[in-house]
Amino acid sequence: MAKKGRVFSGIRPTGRAHLGNYLGAFKNYVALQDDYECVYCIVDLHALTTVEDTLNLRQNTYDLALDLLAAGIRPEETILFVQSHVPQVTELHTILSMVTPLGKLTDLPTFKEKARQQPHNINYGLVGYPVLMAADIVLYKSDVVPVGVDQAPHIEFTREVVRSFNYRYSTNVLIEPQMKNTEILKVLGTDGKEKMGKSLDNQIELAATPEETRQRVMGMFTDPQRIKRTDPGNPDVCNVFTLHKSFTPAEEVAMINVECRRAGIGCVDCKQRFAANLNKALEPFRAKRAELAAKPDLVQAVLDDGAARARAIAEKTMAEVRAAVQLP
Ligand code: SF4
Repeated sequence: MAKKGRVFSGIRPTGRAHLGNYLGAFKNYVALQDDYECVYCIVDLHALTTVEDTLNLRQNTYDLALDLLAAGIRPEETILFVQSHVPQVTELHTILSMVTPLGKLTDLPTFKEKARQQPHNINYGLVGYPVLMAADIVLYKSDVVPVGVDQAPHIEFTREVVRSFNYRYSTNVLIEPQMKNTEILKVLGTDGKEKMGKSLDNQIELAATPEETRQRVMGMFTDPQRIKRTDPGNPDVCNVFTLHKSFTPAEEVAMINVECRRAGIGCVDCKQRFAANLNKALEPFRAKRAELAAKPDLVQAVLDDGAARARAIAEKTMAEVRAAVQLP
């Protein structure tokens, strides 16, 4: 079947993937393969902007590749590769930085947030992060970029950079990408308040054992107004219920929705049900991941092949870019 175009997405190697990664990105990545030619990049260069101690960077990159493959990325059709293995992206980043006003970068909410989080390390890479992201997207002539709501300004920024470049050099070699919103925009962690992530230790890892998963789930915060078992609960404000909807059969979700409101089901029972359903749903992922982990050469071969295919596209784009800019 003819594909609708090319999708690009980059994901930072920050350690073993969790439910937030799965619901916010992986699930969508896997589904997009049916309709689009997909290019998925493990953005290790981006990680350098915030990771000062790079001791685990290689391991994290490898772990992320394992997680993506186990989740259902099909490397025979999808290009899966590591960002630093395609050096053309740094060349394009430099060229695009010449058509990017500095004020635009420092005005982006994501930059302000990062600068607030790490005031001791506001490096150039942090300011130029969106330019490198724009270079990633346009280098592969991507038509569509799947994003969560917090990344939307970066795609709009990319579109502006493309327009500036094409206007400055009287060309149309770069393509303005379209945004595609992901289904679940923000997955909360076990605290029920903050976005799920490793830094806050509120994550549920996909590759955890069933018992580790159960313990994490049993420690989740629920409706804060429900103090006693006899208090009626409100599933609308409960993160356990939100996650149930992604892993629990529809009839059981409907039952919880009714019974919670009249105190017919307790939170312990509700979380046990969620842990069981989640563990069942993750069984195929865990089996596939264990199988791949036993073959590290195969995973490396996938990344090498992905980088070779990505470089071929990148070099073609760069030849056009260099010609447009009149670089010798
Ligand atoms: Fe949340 Fe379930 Fe407790 Fe209701 S019963 S508050 S949905 S954990």
